[in-house]
Amino acid sequence: MTESVADRLETVRAGVADAAAQASRDPAGITTVVITKFHPVSLVRELHALGVRDFGENRHQDAQAKAAELADLDLTWHFVGQLQSKKARQAAAYARVIHSLDRDSVVDALASDERTIDAFVQLNLTTDAARGGVPDDALEELVARVVATNGVRLLGVMAVAPLGEEPRAAFARLRAASDRVRAIDPAAVFISAGMSGDYREAILEGATHLRIGSTITGNRPTRG
Ligand SMILES: *Cc1c(COP(=O)(O)O)cnc(C)c1O
Repeated sequence: MTESVADRLETVRAGVADAAAQASRDPAGITTVVITKFHPVSLVRELHALGVRDFGENRHQDAQAKAAELADLDLTWHFVGQLQSKKARQAAAYARVIHSLDRDSVVDALASDERTIDAFVQLNLTTDAARGGVPDDALEELVARVVATNGVRLLGVMAVAPLGEEPRAAFARLRAASDRVRAIDPAAVFISAGMSGDYREAILEGATHLRIGSTITGNRPTRG
């Protein structure tokens, strides 16, 4: 018997509750964003029927198309991928939350007097500049720019645990970065961290927004 999406979702919900209990945290303070990249809209509908409302995508074109096709459902879209400044404004039309602010140009592109978008500043936890995220020593400067930008509300920090490092140690560094951000903006208390393989460790280090894909959705279909 292969496991159904409902079974896999249930396993993650139990895993989140478990890790929250271990951390003495209320699981209600933890949002699971299901990352549906490369999966069809039918899967999003199935997850919606199972009670999921927060969905994430990492490519603007795909995200835009899915959000349009699913406009009949009450969904919250999270954009979690690298964002070019010329796509940022378009992403703000369907996404309620951007997890990947990492450059001044993207922040500036999101400036608006008409609407407010929620956003995380993505921190690069590696020393490889090619990875997404702002380098650690430029964090405060980028945060200050977000705080000064109309139409962008800072939620907190986001990161992906680097390969080759204990995820818990990496997320502890993210938590320390979160403290630095809160010293600038006390309202920016949220932490976006934790994926299929490391969400428990992220919860133990204070993650409030998990971005979980494959362990719920199953293997990504290959594009043909
Ligand atoms: C794909 C993706 C995830 C989910 O990864 P899984 O390992 O499938 O859970 C989380 N965050 C980002 C930024 C992603 O691109």
